[in-house]
Amino acid sequence: MSDTPETCRPEGGDLAPVIDLAKCEGKADCLRVCPYDVFEVRVATSAERRGIGLLAQLKSMAHGHRKAFVIHADQCHACALCVAACPETAIRLLKARPA
Ligand code: SF4
Repeated sequence: MSDTPETCRPEGGDLAPVIDLAKCEGKADCLRVCPYDVFEVRVATSAERRGIGLLAQLKSMAHGHRKAFVIHADQCHACALCVAACPETAIRLLKARPA
């Protein structure tokens, strides 16, 4: 974990990132900038790729089907660093669902 950005909320859990898998190209900028280890980047399974549409699946092949996934949504502090860093504008912060 790196220093906490001033824009981060003290308590996590209000908002959480949602990744548009059709847009994500697995460049991992979100992984690098997130101070709270919310993301992982890995090869998407065929089941995960199925819902993104044919064109996006073909595009996905070009980068080995690597994509970002949210693994610790409850740790998000809503600083939006990931939103700003994503070159594909694939990340939005939405109200977190109650557990
Ligand atoms: S807004 Fe993005 S970068 Fe900031 S804590 Fe949440 S997931 Fe991490």
